Amino acid sequence: MPTYDEAWFASRATPGIRALKAYDPGHDVVAMRERTQWLVELGSNENPYGPSPQARAAVLDALHLMHRYPDPRGAALKVKLAETHGVAPSRILLGNGSHELLMQLAQVFAAPGDDVVYSQYGFAVFALATRAAGANARVAPALPDAAAMPLGHDVDTLLAAITPATKLVYVANPNNPTGTWLDRDSLRRLIDAAPREVIIVVDEAYAEMADVPDYASALTLAAHRGNVVVTRTFSKAYALAGLRCGYLIAAEGLVAVMERVRESFNVNSLALAACQAVLGDVEHLAWSRERNAEQRAALRAALQARGIPVLPSQTNFVLAHLGDATPAVEAALLDRGVILRPMGGYGLPTYSRIAVGTADENRLLLKALDEVRA
Ligand SMILES: *Cc1c(COP(=O)(O)O)cnc(C)c1O
Repeated sequence: MPTYDEAWFASRATPGIRALKAYDPGHDVVAMRERTQWLVELGSNENPYGPSPQARAAVLDALHLMHRYPDPRGAALKVKLAETHGVAPSRILLGNGSHELLMQLAQVFAAPGDDVVYSQYGFAVFALATRAAGANARVAPALPDAAAMPLGHDVDTLLAAITPATKLVYVANPNNPTGTWLDRDSLRRLIDAAPREVIIVVDEAYAEMADVPDYASALTLAAHRGNVVVTRTFSKAYALAGLRCGYLIAAEGLVAVMERVRESFNVNSLALAACQAVLGDVEHLAWSRERNAEQRAALRAALQARGIPVLPSQTNFVLAHLGDATPAVEAALLDRGVILRPMGGYGLPTYSRIAVGTADENRLLLKALDEVRA
């Protein structure tokens, strides 16, 4: 008689799923919100300023059609995205968050026996997507701690990890959880030197937050390269994480093949409306970007002033080295309502990932940190 427990169902699952562990969301923030009057939520890289006010108006307006299915093609949003990026709408695929698209890329292009390459300390979804597809992960060692871009992607090890069996390479640029980025020349070198048969996925979830001159989007750098896919999201700079919408830009043929597995109504009508609206409010995006850059610099400086090493970041979070005391510090901060993201799952247990909050949130974080470390 089967036990019908997790182990039993896992034994019935496909080989890739059998070995898989579910995505770890960090903390149960919902339960914590119920228990605590106020929280400083710095665990999920959300945008604390919220979206353009036009998003709310668009969502309210879209509510009268909630009994109807959404546009299965998301045509109006694609037109707006096409204008924003100067590409044909046929090169855009929408996803229920870019997480869905990252998973689907592996589902479509990597099978058991195929290799997928990504960097050590690369975004956790790359490993999930690879395993779920039953493909073989080839993890490229990251740059050392002492490098100019500590723990960042190493183009040499990434290239060396590519084999004839490699179907996909995932790189997040800038990367989560390190915050580091590949400069223009390194990214160009990776794209130029990789075999043309390999599909290179550049996850640019934080692209809108990057402001250093040596950062370049693969959209501008590799616009002519058919094997390069860029994923973007509305969850971070556009502050629509709760509505779940992301997109990819790739060759028309790749989009056509991915369409074969896309769930017909994967992006809901409220998300479609809100995303269209926020794309029209470039002032809000610029304002939010500036606040983030300002607070990111201030937070980094404040942590460093306390003797805490902080990695360079072009995102809306920083990776801070709290050392052996990390679990104790994180737990004590949690008692004070301040949520950071533990990094044990990434093999970085002496680091903590801290989202860049508002000026007030960062002040509360630093105050709590000073109490805890006193
Ligand atoms: C947050 C994040 C995403 C975005 O996920 P969504 O599913 O679009 O919310 C993608 N990649 C990286 C590296 C991220 O940090």
